[in-house]
Amino acid sequence: MIILDGKKLKEERLKALKNKIKDLKLSLAVIQIGNDEASSVYINQKKKACENLNVEFSHIKLEENITETKLLNIIKDLNNSDVTGILLQLPIPNHLNKMTLQNAIDYKKDVDGLNVINVNRLINNEKGLLPCTAKGIINMLKAYNIELAGKHVVIVGRSNLVGRPVSNLFLNENATVTICHSKTKNLNEITKLADILIAATGKKHLITAEMIKQGAIIVDVGINKIDGTLYGDVDYENVKEKTSYITPVPGGIGPMTICCLMENIYEAYLLQNNN
Ligand code: NDP
Repeated sequence: MIILDGKKLKEERLKALKNKIKDLKLSLAVIQIGNDEASSVYINQKKKACENLNVEFSHIKLEENITETKLLNIIKDLNNSDVTGILLQLPIPNHLNKMTLQNAIDYKKDVDGLNVINVNRLINNEKGLLPCTAKGIINMLKAYNIELAGKHVVIVGRSNLVGRPVSNLFLNENATVTICHSKTKNLNEITKLADILIAATGKKHLITAEMIKQGAIIVDVGINKIDGTLYGDVDYENVKEKTSYITPVPGGIGPMTICCLMENIYEAYLLQNNN
């Protein structure tokens, strides 16, 4: 069994990126609405990554009750500024329309890859900015020389942030894809068919040893913080010996997500400069 080490891979990739961008003036603006505690932790990680790469970081922290009109104006100003990447930190309060806001971000600055133009490009297998976690998963498997074409990939979770984009990325890599969700019947019979299993549910230890086949590759996206401890969606200790490759939590897909965000800022720069 090989542990897919996201932390190490992130360090290697960011070192290479740092060299590529050393003469550029790149920047990231993160919009946070309200005081969600987990969001603040994620934003801090993004800030640190920017600082390490000399990417200018601005944290635009707004009141929970901000109106959509005000927010759209802020996004418009950012679109017209020289900031390289814009990111709307999720979740946002219910009175705001996530799609409207994501689509207001200039698609060339949309480093989260959630704008409808980038989503369409992904679906049509055209070049665009890709959602960071989905891209991080593919980058990790490729870095370990894991063949994707022809593999049966089972994805548990169908969110716009992870499950759906990663399913399209695997399709674009010529894998055979099955998507499961909370209404899927006989989940364990489907997961057992997976050559590669992606768990992205937010349910601690949903995936157990009985649910996977011998030698499967397991990617655990889940981050479940319970009483101060982080757990994945996979029952790692009991599953790992049955796998050929597995990601740990923490230290697997989390670092790859941050890494891809930084790579997306550079890609956004290239897009804006017609490269
Ligand atoms: P969502 O809550 O948006 O989606 C969860 C998905 O899992 C849904 O499609 C849901 O089905 C499905 N699901 C829930 N319970 C079950 C179940 N018992 N059986 C089968 N499917 C189930 O979550 P996200 O996609 O945003 O995130 C998933 C996890 O990944 C979370 O733990 C999140 O914290 C983590 N995450 C980690 C990142 C990282 O960098 N490592 C980045 C982003 C997220 P249905 O659609 O039917 O409701």
